[in-house]
Amino acid sequence: MPQATTKLNAFPVFMRVEGEAVAIVGGGEAALAKARLIAQSSAVLHVIAENAEPELLAFIAEAGAKHVAATYHAALLDGAVMVFAASGDEALDHRVAADARRLGIPVNAVDRPDLCDFFTPALVNRAPVAVAIGTEGAGPVLAQMLRSRIDRMLSPSLGPLAALAASFRNAAESLPRGNVRRRFWSDFFGGAPARALEAGEFSQAREAATDLLSSDAPARGHIALVGAGPGAEDLLTLRAHRLLMEADVIVHDALVPEAVVAMGRRDAERVPVGKRKGCHTKSQAEINALLVALGREGKRVVRLKSGDPLVFGRAGEEMAALRDAGVAYEVVPGVTAAFAAAADFELPLTLRGVSSSMVFTTGHDLKGNSLPDWARLAISGATVAVYMGRSVAAEVAGRLIEAGLSPDTAVAVVENASLVNRRRFHGTLADLPSLEARADLSGPVMTIIGDAVAGANFERSEPLAAHRHEGAPVAAVEGVQR
Ligand code: SAH
Repeated sequence: MPQATTKLNAFPVFMRVEGEAVAIVGGGEAALAKARLIAQSSAVLHVIAENAEPELLAFIAEAGAKHVAATYHAALLDGAVMVFAASGDEALDHRVAADARRLGIPVNAVDRPDLCDFFTPALVNRAPVAVAIGTEGAGPVLAQMLRSRIDRMLSPSLGPLAALAASFRNAAESLPRGNVRRRFWSDFFGGAPARALEAGEFSQAREAATDLLSSDAPARGHIALVGAGPGAEDLLTLRAHRLLMEADVIVHDALVPEAVVAMGRRDAERVPVGKRKGCHTKSQAEINALLVALGREGKRVVRLKSGDPLVFGRAGEEMAALRDAGVAYEVVPGVTAAFAAAADFELPLTLRGVSSSMVFTTGHDLKGNSLPDWARLAISGATVAVYMGRSVAAEVAGRLIEAGLSPDTAVAVVENASLVNRRRFHGTLADLPSLEARADLSGPVMTIIGDAVAGANFERSEPLAAHRHEGAPVAAVEGVQR
């Protein structure tokens, strides 16, 4: 792969053109394209063309541009802040570029990159907001593709919203710096004013913004219980990412990798609350109390949990505490470890004619005398995903075999699912106890049991039984949220 440099040879800037002259030399299609581009600004357009094509003439009339119907000479460029050489005539374009340069005016020559002082971007226009895309001429088609993608992402009312924001800038200065002011703006751009403008209600938007400004009520906190996914940062949902960008505080578990936490707002406060087997830094009660306290302080909190927050995440207790305290919260789902592990193994969790149900379990409830319901499901063909199952691997295998599940039932194990350092193992239920003794696994481990596992792709996985007789103790690394 060719090594791309990280240095830009053309640096993007936004140039002030309001009321300034921009000269375009040329009378054909290229001149028209540039005229259309520049007409998106409030510059005064001078089209210098002895013979302009009818379409260009029509555009000049429509856009209120100035047509200079004269033979080109350098003096016609005088006073312009930007010049486009768009004549299509090589000698003339060269002349125009040389004249512009002599006059100290930046010049762009259409399709002649060597003559250009600047390039024009593909433009997403939500005036006063603009997104300009440049590729240094390397990929005009790529630039257009990006343009249309970004265009779809941005609300058409973004322009009016930004304009309204400008009219509130002075008023917002009266708010205390930091938290309060940032919250005003994020409520402004993400809350009621934005929603009103999207509905085309300008005066309602203004009122909503004024309300935000004058609200004497203490800031209301909000806790989002957010699924961080299995570890890869691009498995975060868009909503999770947006909330992370808006957070004042990010309270995260030890299982959430730094790369995911780093997707959050840079100056958000980060509170690791631990939870690894053997090294709890905070008890669940302490975490509940922390979330309530932050909510009462008016903070926007993202409570970042690995995988999905509602799967072995103790979210139930945190939600109950928040409800009791009257602190607002929401839940954002995430990709749970079982799904990531299945994807890493190309393992169909449900398989036509083989398995039509699945179980999420920890296996820790297999320790008692009675067999839990899920064991019966396993025997009747359900695919079983075992969370935190490493230290109980032998128990799980033993009890399931005892209950009648074949020792030959397929088993897939993934350490660090979704991450680049993931490891995959495959074997049978009879091999599963060996998992407990493996000292070489230091990341979180997901075990999937069932006949559907036989449909997985084992190409890049190691046999599970290789370490069957090594007696090293289990390294204490499992997340222990039960
Ligand atoms: N809420 C989480 C589960 C938390 S319990 C979720 O939905 O995924 C912690 C257990 O999840 C770990 O012991 C392990 O069994 C599993 N786990 C989490 N991340 C994992 C990963 N990247 N690879 C394999 N297993 C993982």
